[in-house]
Amino acid sequence: MFQRRNPRTFPLLMYVKIAINIPADSPFTYSVPDPLRGCADVGKRALVPFGSRRLTGYIVGVLDGPDVDNVRDILEILDTDPLFSSDDLAFYSWAASYYHYPLGKALHEILPGGINLTSDRRYVALDVSATPLNSLPERQKNILERLKASPKGMSLSRLQSLLANGPIRKDLSALVSANLVTTLECLKSPDVRKKTEQLVSLAVGRPSNARLSERQKEIVAYLERKGAAGVDELRACFGSHSPVVRQLLKKGVVALSHREVYRSSTEPREMRPDRQIQLNDDQVAAVNALKAGLTRKKFLSCLLHGVTGSGKTEVYFSAMDHVLATGGGALYLVPEIGLTPQLLHRVQQRFQGEEIAVLHSDIGRGVRYDNWRRIQKGEIRLVIGARSAVFAPVPDLRLIIVDEEHDSSYKQDVRMRYSARDLAVVRAKMSSAVVVLGSATPDIRSVYSVRRGKYTSLSLPRRVENRPLPEVEVVDMKVQRDGNGQFQVLSDALQSALHRTFSERRQAILFLNRRGFHTFLFCPECGNALSCPNCSVSLTLHAKANQLRCHYCDYSVSTPSFCPTCHGRDIQFFGAGTERLEDEIKMTFPQIRTSRMDRDTTTARGAHARILRDFDRHEIDLLIGTQMITKGHDFSNVTLVGVISADTSLNLPDFRAAERTFQLLAQVSGRGGRGPEKAQVIIQTFNPDHYAILRAKDHDYSGFIEEELRIRKSLNYPPFSRMINLQLSSLNQDRGRQEVDELGRRARTWSRNPSGGAPVVEVIGPAEAPIARIKNRHRWQILLKSDNIHALHSLARHLILSGQTKTLDIKLDVDPMSF
Ligand code: ADP
Ligand code: ZN
Repeated sequence: MFQRRNPRTFPLLMYVKIAINIPADSPFTYSVPDPLRGCADVGKRALVPFGSRRLTGYIVGVLDGPDVDNVRDILEILDTDPLFSSDDLAFYSWAASYYHYPLGKALHEILPGGINLTSDRRYVALDVSATPLNSLPERQKNILERLKASPKGMSLSRLQSLLANGPIRKDLSALVSANLVTTLECLKSPDVRKKTEQLVSLAVGRPSNARLSERQKEIVAYLERKGAAGVDELRACFGSHSPVVRQLLKKGVVALSHREVYRSSTEPREMRPDRQIQLNDDQVAAVNALKAGLTRKKFLSCLLHGVTGSGKTEVYFSAMDHVLATGGGALYLVPEIGLTPQLLHRVQQRFQGEEIAVLHSDIGRGVRYDNWRRIQKGEIRLVIGARSAVFAPVPDLRLIIVDEEHDSSYKQDVRMRYSARDLAVVRAKMSSAVVVLGSATPDIRSVYSVRRGKYTSLSLPRRVENRPLPEVEVVDMKVQRDGNGQFQVLSDALQSALHRTFSERRQAILFLNRRGFHTFLFCPECGNALSCPNCSVSLTLHAKANQLRCHYCDYSVSTPSFCPTCHGRDIQFFGAGTERLEDEIKMTFPQIRTSRMDRDTTTARGAHARILRDFDRHEIDLLIGTQMITKGHDFSNVTLVGVISADTSLNLPDFRAAERTFQLLAQVSGRGGRGPEKAQVIIQTFNPDHYAILRAKDHDYSGFIEEELRIRKSLNYPPFSRMINLQLSSLNQDRGRQEVDELGRRARTWSRNPSGGAPVVEVIGPAEAPIARIKNRHRWQILLKSDNIHALHSLARHLILSGQTKTLDIKLDVDPMSF
């Protein structure tokens, strides 16, 4: 359409930077042809030529002159309104750069899906009747036959699937060079479109009403009152109206047009008048601090520490109220909103009349797209969502709430491996907004930030109405054996507590952590799991090699036959016991209605909500579940919470295992006692003396933090340092391992301290990854650790730029949450 031009002869042209969804280090420069000049703005999509393809990219900058030679014209601008503002872009760019991720790919993942034109390349057979084909190889002949049978041509993947034997790309190229086949490119439209409806309005210069029928007059009167009305609205008011409207149209009384209608992520609900809550003194103090910050319009980050049920949500609501009343926008992040339908109802109830956008993975593309646009235009100012909502393009953003800020689901561990919790703080800073990180068990990093004066501390030390915290009992599983000497899944204490609960017609929750693949060895005599002497994380069993390995540093020992600590000879694998749980429950309590909630039982849309509703209505007596059940649900009839094994999380090969265990136990315990009845919590463990368990039993958060900080400091783990994990993979095990080792050496050389002493960046590994092979790719990792964030990131960048080869793929996980 537009010719390639030499930019130097057209100095007045306009140039734009385009980020494209490919793994490129930086955006590309394009020129903007005259007719498109007026509308080439940052935040819009553009169709651009790229090699022989046409791709959708995002305009991320406007230049006066070209910064490279041989610039090509963009082909089209695809949006009338930008999808994000330049402030939003500044934030997205920061994220992409911090997580070492290409900007174009980042934008592609951030923006609602299904909006990009995609090119579709097809192979078409040319007229080959005159050409003798006998000399062609068999496979090329086959391909040609297939193509001739399909006049519209076929995509490479379709052809490949029809001709199963080996790659056909080379054969196709040969056919193309021989002029027997050509390629055709066409563009596929995006699958998300604006939704429109017909709009009926009064025609300009319409004749008088005198000769109109009664029905017609009614509709005209309605339109006179409202100006215009959509067809859905008319149907709701007048029933079958289309014949009447048609007649009015004929008489020239009304005119038809189209308008955009939006799909919504919230369903209208029946509203009761909102319960007036009188905030208690602690809540008032917290709200006042937030309001003061909001009024100053300066960056403020607060840690709101309050046990479950202490009224944190009411504090968030008051702050949100303040923001909305003064015309700003607010973002409310929750770990997994799909799991918390109750919360959404509560927000709708509280903010009646306010449009709310809900963003999470269960929302359809059309709705997501409409939400995005309405948020961007400032039509929706209250956004609730899971981690991806941190990117919502809220104009005049004043408040970001991160509820359950310690929750690991804020970290995305595929593609752009970002932490929405961390980004929330950055975004608040860039927007001069207030960020509230709330939790009953804050991340140790947040506590540390409070101590260094970076965060303001707000706290709600008491439960609302002084409801007591549940009584926690720790059961030592070392002494729980059945008649055959086997370890029991359900201790006597837990069994009798369940009996009592059910006989009182109350409900119970059993928590079991099934975080799967990790198998460790432990000694039931002393309760210890075998751990790495260098890294203080537990060792993982590699059964084939009959070795125990450390996933941080690759330390390995052959599987010992007795416990190195107490010399006990009863060393056991861990994991199998939990699978027996459901069977065991069914045998022990045949009359009890149980339901299980985990990834397997909740894949269907709405399955979560259904299980929770049934439990809430007491159609289920016992809910068995993973982490999922620890999140935010409020069940007033639950008086017993059982933790099947605290050891599963305690022995994860992760330096945060103790912190996670404490958090998990505290959160699980918080599920009980939401009603007037006092609740009981029973924790089963082989490590009854572990500080994480003892502190959780006593609800002693600060005691735990003190102990944990001391340990972290002695090993220089976060928050005293930062980490980046290099995830390395290769199809070729030997070559891959060589390159990985070489990369490790290069990292050590780079980080050598010129003046002697400790290296600038500590390089741990390379080690085999926890899952050593996925889809035939062999996997390793190198951990970088340093208190010098600048050096840490420079080294990571250096390694990814120099280490990425044809055989070795490198992904960076910045501030990793799992290893
Ligand atoms: P959290 O978010 O800390 O778990 P919530 O804000 O959900 O706590 O409060 C727990 C329960 O107590 C909710 O039902 C809430 O409506 C109620 N609540 C909160 N604050 C008050 C208050 N000041 N007076 C009475 N009830 C309150
Ligand atoms: Zn180690």
